[in-house]
Amino acid sequence: MIETDILIAGGGIAGMSAAARFAADGHQIVIVDPAPADIGEGSDLRTTAFLEPGIETLTKAGVWDAIKPTGAELRVMRIVDAGGETRTPRETADFDGAETKQGFFGWNVSNKAARVALMAKLAQLDNVDFRFSTTVTGFKNTARFADVTLSDDKSDDESDDETIRAKLVIAADGRNSSLRDMAGIEHKRWAYDQSAIVFVVTHDKPHDNISTEIHRTGGPLTLVPMPDLDGKPCSSVVWMTPAKRADELNAMSNEALSAEITHDTMNLFGPLSVASPRAVWPMIAQVPSRLIAARLALIAEAAHVVPPIGAQGLNMSLHDIETLAELMAKAKLHNEDIGATALLKSYERRQLPKTLARVGGIDLLNRASMFEPKTLRDLRYVGLSALNRIGPLRKLAIKVGVGK
Ligand SMILES: Cc1cc2nc3c(=O)[nH]c(=O)nc-3n(C[C@H](O)[C@H](O)[C@H](O)COP(=O)(O)OP(=O)(O)OC[C@H]3O[C@@H](n4cnc5c(N)ncnc54)[C@H](O)[C@@H]3O)c2cc1C
Repeated sequence: MIETDILIAGGGIAGMSAAARFAADGHQIVIVDPAPADIGEGSDLRTTAFLEPGIETLTKAGVWDAIKPTGAELRVMRIVDAGGETRTPRETADFDGAETKQGFFGWNVSNKAARVALMAKLAQLDNVDFRFSTTVTGFKNTARFADVTLSDDKSDDESDDETIRAKLVIAADGRNSSLRDMAGIEHKRWAYDQSAIVFVVTHDKPHDNISTEIHRTGGPLTLVPMPDLDGKPCSSVVWMTPAKRADELNAMSNEALSAEITHDTMNLFGPLSVASPRAVWPMIAQVPSRLIAARLALIAEAAHVVPPIGAQGLNMSLHDIETLAELMAKAKLHNEDIGATALLKSYERRQLPKTLARVGGIDLLNRASMFEPKTLRDLRYVGLSALNRIGPLRKLAIKVGVGK
């Protein structure tokens, strides 16, 4: 039987980031994913706004220098309230990255580019064994180790299944995590009758590296800077609306969708042109009852799902990874067990309260962004005005915005 320090289930962006970060500290890693080896950049149309301190984690993982040039810097986060009688901006709050400790908010990168950079990094590492077309189908944990059964998805023969013994198993297998179920960890999920439609647009006016979140009704419409496309300013769009409206938008021709988003962005960018396929994501939030079981830690979407407000999802995942990396580095230094119950309990103590607070906070913000009645929209406007004008509140918003 093959033995390893860490087995990571899930080779999404979070699982691969975890593999690179833990490998940088000298741990032996096996990472598995059902996707085939030739998946390349994959089909994920989303982009990720990488914020500090997540960038620091990717730097320690030795991959940020490859990811950064593929993205666009985010210098300013702009929130626009347009929830008045007419479709015009009535309050605009700018949060400048120069006001943060590190002097910037982050970088917006396509998930495809991040994926390519991470796969290239892992391929260079002798202490990472990436198994493609491989699914975790069994998990048996004891106090001393965990045995994980892997099925070879290229073979129909069950005798090709393999068991790997690990000191620690990381569940990075996404929102429907089967490892979480195998370990008997319950979770709570709620839906919003709201979807996000994502695509890329080009526009006439430059974005000036400003990320713009427009609030009217139904959810925020966010345009996040991207590098120029065919010589034109370009942004990625995350448009959160009632689910029915997202389906209607998705059914439109490129011309009709371009006209619709030009109207809803109130000419802030000039005419917009849809420049990519689209994807629709039903909005849910999810939290587990625990983050750990014997020899197992949940990270990323196995541990938390939030609507894409304030670019928190993957950034929270990078925080999970950094916390585990720090705890394991300390254990390794003292020749202690990296999968010990005491270490895992420290992980849960540090991450679970933060996870619950952040999921709860984003839930509140999302419900506020969905307000339809005028009185509630006015209340949201008063809140944004206060955030914009009251110094300590502004500072807090900036701190939360960078994921601290
Ligand atoms: C519209 C939208 C915009 C977003 N924008 C941002 C943003 O700007 N910033 C940000 O921080 N976050 C953002 N997020 C969140 C972020 O995209 C997700 O948190 C992140 O991509 C999820 O990554 P993951 O690796 O946890 O999950 P996934 O990408 O779902 O990866 C899970 C992997 O596990 C594998 N798997 C499944 N079952 C098994 C098994 N049994 N064995 C082995 N492997 C298995 C799957 O094949 C998959 O590759 C956004 C989300 C949405 C919906």
